[in-house]
Amino acid sequence: ADQNHIRTFSIIAHVDHGKTTLSDRLLEVTKTISARQSREQLLDGMDLEREKGITIKAKAVRMEYVAQDGQRYQLNLIDTPGHVDFGYEVSRALAACEGALLVVDAAQGIEAQTLANVYLAVEHDLTIIPVVNKIDLPGAHPEEVAGEVESVIGIPAEEVIMASAKEGIGIPEILEAIVQRIPPPRGQRNQPARALIFDSHYDAYKGVIAYVRVVDGAFPTGAVVRFIGTGASASTLELGVFRPGMTPLNELVAGEVGYIATGLKTVEECQVGDTITLVDNPAESPLPGYRPAKPMVFAGLYPVDSNAYPELREALEKLKMNDAALSFQPESSNALGFGFRCGFLGLLHMEIVRERLEREYNLDLLITAPSVEYQVLLTDGEIITVDNPSDMPDLSKLGSIEEPVVQISIISPTRYIGTIMDLVTTKRGTFETMDYLDPTRVQLKYKMPLAEIVIDFYDQLKSRTQGYASLDYHLAGYQEADLVKLDILVNQQPVDALSLIVHRDFAYNQGRTLVERLRKLIPRQMFEVPIQAAIGAKIIARETVRAMRKDVLAKCYGGDITRKRKLLEKQKEGKKRMKMVGNVEIPQEAFMAILSLN
Ligand code: GDP
Repeated sequence: ADQNHIRTFSIIAHVDHGKTTLSDRLLEVTKTISARQSREQLLDGMDLEREKGITIKAKAVRMEYVAQDGQRYQLNLIDTPGHVDFGYEVSRALAACEGALLVVDAAQGIEAQTLANVYLAVEHDLTIIPVVNKIDLPGAHPEEVAGEVESVIGIPAEEVIMASAKEGIGIPEILEAIVQRIPPPRGQRNQPARALIFDSHYDAYKGVIAYVRVVDGAFPTGAVVRFIGTGASASTLELGVFRPGMTPLNELVAGEVGYIATGLKTVEECQVGDTITLVDNPAESPLPGYRPAKPMVFAGLYPVDSNAYPELREALEKLKMNDAALSFQPESSNALGFGFRCGFLGLLHMEIVRERLEREYNLDLLITAPSVEYQVLLTDGEIITVDNPSDMPDLSKLGSIEEPVVQISIISPTRYIGTIMDLVTTKRGTFETMDYLDPTRVQLKYKMPLAEIVIDFYDQLKSRTQGYASLDYHLAGYQEADLVKLDILVNQQPVDALSLIVHRDFAYNQGRTLVERLRKLIPRQMFEVPIQAAIGAKIIARETVRAMRKDVLAKCYGGDITRKRKLLEKQKEGKKRMKMVGNVEIPQEAFMAILSLN
């Protein structure tokens, strides 16, 4: 299609406000899927694909729509992920669009979390079409919500479209608004080809599939392409569009959205945000905004069963093919044996990787407390990076430590300002600015150590503001800080996997809390187990896990044989996530205890 007949948009909505239902409705009305192809059927199809080891993400769909002006339009709907860990992916998906539907529940009104994405969309110059959804609900107050859209976002209430995705009300109006209000793409069709990668996935048959928005020129199928940022090149095995299934075409031209199958073996060479061009007639400069995926949080992953080490390596290699932000390298711990130091975008990303390793690859894992990457200046002038607390050099060799800091932006109703200030202060944040977005909402900006964000900041912010505050952050460099390594000794043995880097001012308190927590988490043994926190050679806190009482033991050893076996089996199951360290069993929770220190 020529660019005047293309419209590309995404949908911004708070969870449950109706994004999925509305997307389905648009696909139905434009006959991209038939009404019979219910959502369940689509999902079933996806499950099947998943079983075959292919991840299908309905991340971009092309629809055809004949508008009231009688013209046929190509509508591209691009989906965006919804968590701070994936903020960069969201920004690239929005960069691939000219417009966004903002869906707001007519009974709930605007939620703070949505605002962050609205502002992001405004920053990318997207045209926003506000839709008040669920007007069929008895509790709906659509006029009020439209007023909120006007006062909070500044879009006149008359521009709001009243809809019920469920009942199919307002859908034709939304389609017309997409055509009339969202501007067409304005790429240069006769310039060298450039396409923005806004997502990618690995396919066992076709290699890495890049999800692209062609900005300039055209990509013919079979052409050899280059990735300007990573420098990789590949020949296009196939290209096409999602309808919603993959549909091959002969070319993708400026303004169009689709996929390019590259045959590449790992998504690392085909990163979100990078620009694809043609090797034959390459564009001189990339599209703006490329940022290579960079892990920010590191943790050790260890198989509970040491024999599973090769399986863990294999599984990580497979995941990595589909996840440019995941990094890993072998490490060993005297407490946990052989494992991998892995890097993640954030804690959610870490959880996703862990879950997949356990579910899809059947691995039982121990994961150590997450850490950030420190820059350490040694007394001899050398600078090293340390992402594992147990690698922190001795005090005698240590000059100074710099830690990564982030700039955070919190959007919240004004009534939580005090609560947020308190929380941020306990997390070593320094205040930068406060702006009123309207009389009831503020945007607060702080500088904060990344390590503090990583450790349960997001959850605390959510719980202390009843879920109303939204968080966004980006790396803002490194800053020197008075940090020390806190070691934990279990039964007089230092356990390297439990070491932490903490601020000196908080070390005493955190040490105390941690040993108290560990006392409760480490099961009783047949002997007394002291648990100590130390800085260097100095013990700063101590607790004791009492020995098991004799009569409890007697129970285990007396009685008939079947009962005994049952007991032993139960113990074995309970042991699944335990690791023998010296002669003491330490459960998984102990390694994570740091995550809830407060
Ligand atoms: P998402 O989380 O934004 O994708 O929201 P969904 O599309 O999954 O919708 C959340 C819930 O709201 C589901 O139970 C839908 O059936 C319901 N829902 C969506 N649109 C409407 C609507 O217009 N009216 C009513 N009454 N319910 C709706």
